[in-house]
Amino acid sequence: KVVCVTGASGYIASWIVKFLLQRGYTVRATVRNPGDHKKLEHLLKLEGAKERLHLFKADLLAENSFDSVVEGCDGVFHTASPFIVNVKDPQTELLDPAVKGTLNVLKSCVKSPSVKRVVLTSSVAAVAYNERPKTPEVVVDETWFSNPDYCRENGIWYMLSKTLAEDAAWKFAKENSIDLVTVNPAMVVGPLLQAELNTSAAAILNLINGSETFPNDTYGWINVKDVANAHIQAYEIASASGRYCLVERVAHFSELAKILRDLYPTYQVPKKAANDKPYVSTFQVSKEKAKTLGIEFIPLEVSLKETVESLKEKKFTN
Ligand code: NDP
Repeated sequence: KVVCVTGASGYIASWIVKFLLQRGYTVRATVRNPGDHKKLEHLLKLEGAKERLHLFKADLLAENSFDSVVEGCDGVFHTASPFIVNVKDPQTELLDPAVKGTLNVLKSCVKSPSVKRVVLTSSVAAVAYNERPKTPEVVVDETWFSNPDYCRENGIWYMLSKTLAEDAAWKFAKENSIDLVTVNPAMVVGPLLQAELNTSAAAILNLINGSETFPNDTYGWINVKDVANAHIQAYEIASASGRYCLVERVAHFSELAKILRDLYPTYQVPKKAANDKPYVSTFQVSKEKAKTLGIEFIPLEVSLKETVESLKEKKFTN
């Protein structure tokens, strides 16, 4: 079968491409710049790539950019979307590529009758950011939606971009009878295939790079291999539908720091938070729906070890 992966050179997408090739798929991979050897080398080296990986140039903001790549595909994995935290202009840097880009890809899917299902990489960012209190007893699940106004008021622009993009995707899919499934991972950790540092791996690098403090924040965490696998299961399992939250464990950065200190006693891992406020509370995220996809939920300790080993191998740290 032929499938398309958008933003194929990214952290999560690279693992999706790897697993798809392993499973015998022909993969049409979109990238912004097919001439960027450094960004693509790891994909071209994957097993099966020579025979079954085809690169296409496509940009989220260029109309009809995805028409020719999607045409004839059985499934589409739309992962491309900026995950950046320090932005000057949220509209152009985050919201436009996320929202307009998603609609652009879905419009191409409507034009191609071969497309049976679209799997969208959404996020817990589109699930958990609203006024509802998050405390240790609270279980966040797929019925939760982030509130755009809450995101705007708090200036959490990446969360806003994922919330608006997923919402727009559901509306468009309904109006145009697209079989859409979303995968909503929390912060993704685990080994990097790509050469460039992505935002969630950078959060771990910051804990072992001599920083004085860790962020006073609490996130869900999930291994990139579980995330890639969930995308493929969400596509292959005919009865899969709706959203799938993916979180192995919710943990404050202080807990990550402790795990890293235990794993790597010689590293200088920060012992205090970046502010004196009480630690941001932990909460739970339901695993029930994700379990129906057969997700393994690799433990956070293993994921953190894999991340650090990968960061060492790629010379981001010693
Ligand atoms: P990366 O930064 O590694 O990858 C982002 C990808 O998006 C890149 O391939 C990039 O392409 C592409 N992209 C960004 N802007 C544009 C644009 N204007 N036009 C075309 N392509 C663009 O990030 P991740 O792998 O972490 O993220 C992938 C997806 O997963 C995103 O949708 C993100 O929101 C989501 N996600 C990530 C989580 C995480 O913790 N990592 C958690 C939950 C969801 P290029 O190579 O050309 O720059």
